[in-house]
Amino acid sequence: MKEKACRNCHRIVTNQSICPYCKTHTLSDDFAGLIIIIDPQKSEIAKKLQITQPGRYAFRVR
Ligand SMILES: [Zn+2]
Repeated sequence: MKEKACRNCHRIVTNQSICPYCKTHTLSDDFAGLIIIIDPQKSEIAKKLQITQPGRYAFRVR
């Protein structure tokens, strides 16, 4: 399994060549800080990264 993070929406995806969420090719395997967002409304990090959907995200994507 190869995990990559999307530079556009910060989602972490597995075995994908395009991001299934924002449909861009901006995936990178160079990312740091895994964040699991359960409730975006109550999460300060989610607000900071403008995350509106629950899921797994990378804090920083290069
Ligand atoms: Zn994306």
